[in-house]
Amino acid sequence: STQIQLASRPSGWPTAENFRTVQVTYGDLAPGEVRVATEFMSVDPYMRGRMNDVKSYTPPFALDETMTGGAIGRVVESNVDEVPVGALVQHQLGWRDIVQADAAQFRVVPEIPGVSTSVYLGMLGMTGLTAYVGLTAIAQMREGDTVFISGAAGAVGTAAGQIARLLGAKRVIGSAGSAEKVALLTERYGYDVAFNYKDGDIRGQLAAATPEGIDVYFDNVGGEHLEAAIGALNHGGRVAVCGAISAYNATEPVPGPRNMGNIITRSLTLKGFTLGGYLHLAGEFQQHMTEWFGAGKIAHDETVVEGIDHAVDAFLGLLRGENVGKMVVKI
Ligand code: NDP
Repeated sequence: STQIQLASRPSGWPTAENFRTVQVTYGDLAPGEVRVATEFMSVDPYMRGRMNDVKSYTPPFALDETMTGGAIGRVVESNVDEVPVGALVQHQLGWRDIVQADAAQFRVVPEIPGVSTSVYLGMLGMTGLTAYVGLTAIAQMREGDTVFISGAAGAVGTAAGQIARLLGAKRVIGSAGSAEKVALLTERYGYDVAFNYKDGDIRGQLAAATPEGIDVYFDNVGGEHLEAAIGALNHGGRVAVCGAISAYNATEPVPGPRNMGNIITRSLTLKGFTLGGYLHLAGEFQQHMTEWFGAGKIAHDETVVEGIDHAVDAFLGLLRGENVGKMVVKI
C-alpha cells in the first residue's frame, strides 16, 4: 500500500518536503478485518491545522505516521458478512491507496447510479453537511434573508450558495479569488451577485453588491472578510463562523475585526461550530439533499487530481485556491 506520512511540521505555508511517501505491506486479513481499495480521498483545509502540534478539536497528525482523512473505497477482501467484497464504503483512513482495518472503521453506503462515488466526500458528505448546518442550525437562516458567503466557489461555498437559495434566501452574495470563479458563482451555484476579493476593497465591493445590507454571513475565510461582513450586517444579523482559511498559514495570531462594537449596537450573533457537534442533523440533511439532488436542483462540481502520488499537490493546491467545488484525489 502506498501511504503518505507527515515528515515534518511546517511553519507558515506547507511544502512537499513536509510529507513522505512510504510503502506498507499488510499481512493476511485478521478476523473481523476487511481490505479496501480507495477510490477517492479527500483533502481539506482543516488538515493544515492538524499539521501543527497544538491542541485542537482534532488531534494533530503524528510525525512519521500515515495521515488520516475522509475517503471512499471498494471492499476487495473481507472476513465480515456485513461488509462484503464489492461494497462501497466510506471511512476516515485516507492518504493511502489500499487500507486494511477492522470492519467497524468502514460504513457501507449505497451506490448512486450515474454519480461519481466522490459525491460522498463533498455535496452528499462532510462539506455539504457543513453548509447545511452552518446556514440552518448556526446562522438560523430564514426565508427572505440576504446571505453573504465567502469562500463561495469551494466545496462548502458551492453547497451553501445553492442551499441558501433553496431555503428561500432573498439575495445570495458570494466572494471568491478569481474572475472565473466569480462567473461560476452566478452562472451555476445559486448566487445573485459575486465579487473577486483579490481585486481588493472587500468592504466596498460588498456594499456595492448589497445596498440593503446582509442578514446572514457564512464565514469560510475570516480576516478582512469578517470585518467587512460585520460592517454590512443588519440589526439582528447572524454569522456562522465556519472557517478562517485566510489565517491558516499565518505564523502569528492575526488581529481581529476592528468593528466589534457593531455586535452590540446591531444585536449581532457570531456563532462558531465544528461539524462533529452537529452530526445529529446528518439524517435531515441527507433527506433534503437527496431530494434536491434527485430533482436536478444542485450543481455539483469537483476538482479531481489523479493519483496518490499527487495527493500532496492536491492538498497544497487547495490551500492556494486551485479548486472549484470539492477537491478530491482519484486513486
Ligand atoms: P474549499 O473547497 O473552499 O477550498 C479552500 C478555498 O479557500 C480555496 O479554493 C481558496 O479559494 C480559498 N482561500 C484560500 N486562501 C484564501 C484567503 N486568503 N482568502 C480567501 N479565500 C482563500 O474548502 P472547504 O469548502 O472544504 O472549506 C471551506 C472552509 O470551511 C474552510 O475555512 C474550512 O476550514 C471550513 N470548514 C469548516 C468546517 C467546520 O466544521 N467548521 C467543516 C468543513 C470546512 P479562492 O480561489 O476563492 O481563494
